[in-house]
Amino acid sequence: MQQAIPGAVISHPNLSPIMKYQPVRNFINGAFVDVKTPRSLPVVSPLDGTLLSTVPMSSSSDLAQAVVAAKTAFPSWSKMPIKERVQVFFRYKRLLEQRQDELAAVIQEENGKTYPEAVAEIEKSVELTEFATSMPQLITGEVLEVSKGVECRTEHVPLGVVASIVPFNFPAMVPNWTIPNALALGNCMIIKPSEKVPLTLGYLAGILKEAGLPDGVFNIVNGDREIVEAICDHPGIDAVSFVGSTKVAKMVYQRATSNYKRCLALGGAKNHLLVLPDAIPGMTAQNVAASMSGCAGQRCMAASAMVAVGQVDHIVEKICEEARKIIPGQNLGAVISSEAKERIESYISEAEKRGAKVLVDGRRAVVQGKEKGTYVGPTVIDYVKPEMAIAREEVFGPVISIMRTNTVDEALEIQNSNPYGNAASVFTQSGGVARYVMERASAGMVGVNVGVPVPREPFSFGGWNESRFGVGDITGKSSIEFWTKLKKNTIKWNPEAGINWMS
Ligand code: NAD
Repeated sequence: MQQAIPGAVISHPNLSPIMKYQPVRNFINGAFVDVKTPRSLPVVSPLDGTLLSTVPMSSSSDLAQAVVAAKTAFPSWSKMPIKERVQVFFRYKRLLEQRQDELAAVIQEENGKTYPEAVAEIEKSVELTEFATSMPQLITGEVLEVSKGVECRTEHVPLGVVASIVPFNFPAMVPNWTIPNALALGNCMIIKPSEKVPLTLGYLAGILKEAGLPDGVFNIVNGDREIVEAICDHPGIDAVSFVGSTKVAKMVYQRATSNYKRCLALGGAKNHLLVLPDAIPGMTAQNVAASMSGCAGQRCMAASAMVAVGQVDHIVEKICEEARKIIPGQNLGAVISSEAKERIESYISEAEKRGAKVLVDGRRAVVQGKEKGTYVGPTVIDYVKPEMAIAREEVFGPVISIMRTNTVDEALEIQNSNPYGNAASVFTQSGGVARYVMERASAGMVGVNVGVPVPREPFSFGGWNESRFGVGDITGKSSIEFWTKLKKNTIKWNPEAGINWMS
C-alpha cells in the first residue's frame, strides 16, 4: 500500500513482525506527529484478529496544538475565494477514485467489512465530495434593493475552527460527511477518528495534502473520551459535529452547547420495516436480508426490526432463504470486536429464552482459517415481542427481529413508540398504504419498497428524535446552515443622494 506522506500509516509487513502498520500518529499542520502519551490502544483487525497498529490516546495539550494550527490556517483559507477552495476537492475526488483499491483494503482490514462494502464507502465519499465542489453554486447570497438606493445582501461566512467526531462503522464515508463540506465552506477542521479504526483517516489526510489542501486546514487528533471532552470544552473550537451512539451523542451535545458551541450530534438507530401481505415477495425478502446484514448490520440505516402486518409467512420464508445465502467471511463481514459479538449473541439468546423463535441462527459463527475473527452469521428471529430488549434496543449486528401485528396502525404504534427515529420503510404495492405510513412514521428518512432509505446527494442525511440532537442535517444543503453563519449587509451605495434609510 502506498501512502502520500512519509511516516504515515504505511504498510511494512516486512519491517515489523508484530504489527502490520506503524503506530498511528496525529496529523497536525500538514504533518504526522508523534504523541507523547503513556496510553495507547491496539488496533485489531476484526477479520482475523491480526494486530494492525496501535493508536495513541492524545491529551488536551495535543488538541491545543491542533487548534493553534487550525486557527493559524483559518485567515488565509477562509479568505480564499470559494471557487479556488473547491479546486482542492476536485483533485481530492480524483485521488479517491485513483486510490480506491488501496483505500478499500485499509477500510476492510480495520473495520472488518467486505471488500465491495469498503469500495461502496469510497464511492459514496466521492459523491459527497462532488456535492462539496458545487458549493459555489449553492451559497450565492441574496441581494435586493429594499428601499430606494439601499440594498440588503447576505453572505455565508465560515465559522472558524470546527470539530468532527466520528464512529467506527464507516471509516471513510462518515468523515466525508463533514470534511469536504465544512472545508469547502472555509472552515478549518480537527477530526477525531474512532480509536477502533484510525488508519483510514490517516490515509485520507495524505490524500487531502496531495490534493493541495494547505497545512493546518485539516488536523487529526486520535484518542477516546478524554479528547472528545476536551474538544467540547476548548474555547478555540466554534462548532462540533458528532456521529455515534445516542448515549455519547447526548453527552457531546450537552457539553458542547453548554460551552456555547454550535453542535449537531447524530446518535444510534432502531429502524423498522413494515411488511404487508401485498408486498412483492422476492424483492422484499432480498431488501430485508440485505438491509439487516449489509456491513454486518453495523449501519445506522440497517433494518433491525421487521413488523409483519397480517399474514406474511410466505415472505418470512423467503427472507430465511435469502439469509441462508449470506455466508460469514464470504459475502458477510465481521463485527467490530469480540465484545460486539458477545453483545449481539446475548440479545439473540435472551429473546429466545423469552419465547422468540430463531429461524436462522448466526450465533457461534466461525470462519475457517480466521478463527480469531469476530463473525456473527445472519440471524432471523420471529415472534419477537415489542417489549423485549432485542426489539427496543440497538443491536448493531446482522439480526432481524420480526414482530407480528394485525393492522398498519399497530405496526406504526410499534415504530412510533421507539425512542430513535433514523429510518423506517414500508413494503407494499398499495400507494395509499405507502402514503399513510410515510405520513405517520416518526423517522427522518422514510422508504417505500427500499430497505436502506439513505437519501443521495443533494438530499441531506439526518434522523429525528433520539437519533439526532441539534438542528438540521449533516449532509446536503442543510449542512451549509450548520457550517456557516449568515451575514446580513445593508448598503447605501451613494450616500450623497441624501436618501434616508427606510425611505
Ligand atoms: P460510539 O458512540 O461508541 O463512538 C463514537 C465516537 O465517540 C468515537 O470517536 C469514540 O471514540 C467516541 N466515544 C466513545 N465513547 C465515548 C465517551 N464515553 N465519551 C466521549 N466520547 C466517546 O459509537 P461507535 O460504536 O463508534 O459507532 C456506532 C454507533 O454510531 C451506533 O450507535 C450507530 O447507530 C451510530 N451511528 C449513527 C449514525 C447516524 O447517522 N445517526 C451513523 C453512523 C453510526
